[in-house]
Amino acid sequence: MKILPTKDAVKKFLLSLPNSQTTVGLVPTMGALHEGHLDLVRKAKENSDIVIVSIFVNPTQFNNPDDFAKYPKTLDKDLDLLKNIGVDAVFVPDNQEVYPESPLIKIDFGDLERVLEGSFRPGHFNGVGIVVSKLLNIVKPHKAYFGQKDLQQVAVIKRLVKDLSFDVEIIVVPTVREASGLALSSRNLRLSPVQRENALVLYKSLSFAKTELLKGESWFTIKSEVENQFQQTPEVELEYFELVDSDKMTVLESLQEGISLSICTAAYVGDVRLIDNISVNH
Ligand code: AMP
Repeated sequence: MKILPTKDAVKKFLLSLPNSQTTVGLVPTMGALHEGHLDLVRKAKENSDIVIVSIFVNPTQFNNPDDFAKYPKTLDKDLDLLKNIGVDAVFVPDNQEVYPESPLIKIDFGDLERVLEGSFRPGHFNGVGIVVSKLLNIVKPHKAYFGQKDLQQVAVIKRLVKDLSFDVEIIVVPTVREASGLALSSRNLRLSPVQRENALVLYKSLSFAKTELLKGESWFTIKSEVENQFQQTPEVELEYFELVDSDKMTVLESLQEGISLSICTAAYVGDVRLIDNISVNH
């Protein structure tokens, strides 16, 4: 497995590939890898000749400096996992390599980012848009892999690719969960055992809300019951719990036929912010 610390090293690696027909799959990550990331890598290995994983904790997508400072870093372990699973190369740039200068451009995803993560994390999707654009330009993959766990990020990236005509196919991989239902997340490393238990309220509420909605219960009633469940869970502070159109991210008040629907939530567990979502009708 090649370790590529610079854009030049990536370029040389790409030039060394056997022929121009070789397909390249990119899995962008911020490290502290878990089975969710590894599932993206497995999917990439199935679909692409060469798999490149990037590990870069992107400062421009953090609106909270404390969250950035405390973001878990486990590089040695990450590299072992990637080597064992058979990744071809890992792009591990430092900040200077990615941001020789602070970008002047700003990306505004309009209505896609006025809700959910975008409204609670101002500037987050600008940072995501910029770093993903850079990674796509540096690695020039045929396919890039993203997790459904970050549903709004998927919507934003699909739109980025369309709006800027990036020549890449975006592949979305389902969320990997613990047996308890807790969605795997690098930030789970920061939870105490008790907080991990309390964090189950996210998935339990999503499952409950989906079942009730499909039974015909009103969204208003479901949401107030869920808010109650959150209030009764120690150390957990709900930020949002919304029914949305999975592609446009519009917030809805009731079930709608003919479109893909998801329920999305974000909550603090102690000082760790977690997000999760569940698809309602697919
Ligand atoms: P991150 O390192 O958190 O930026 O995540 C890198 C990629 O892994 C993103 O596309 C995430 O959506 C995806 N990802 C994170 N957690 C999971 C999970 N539990 N299951 C599947 N994909 C995930």
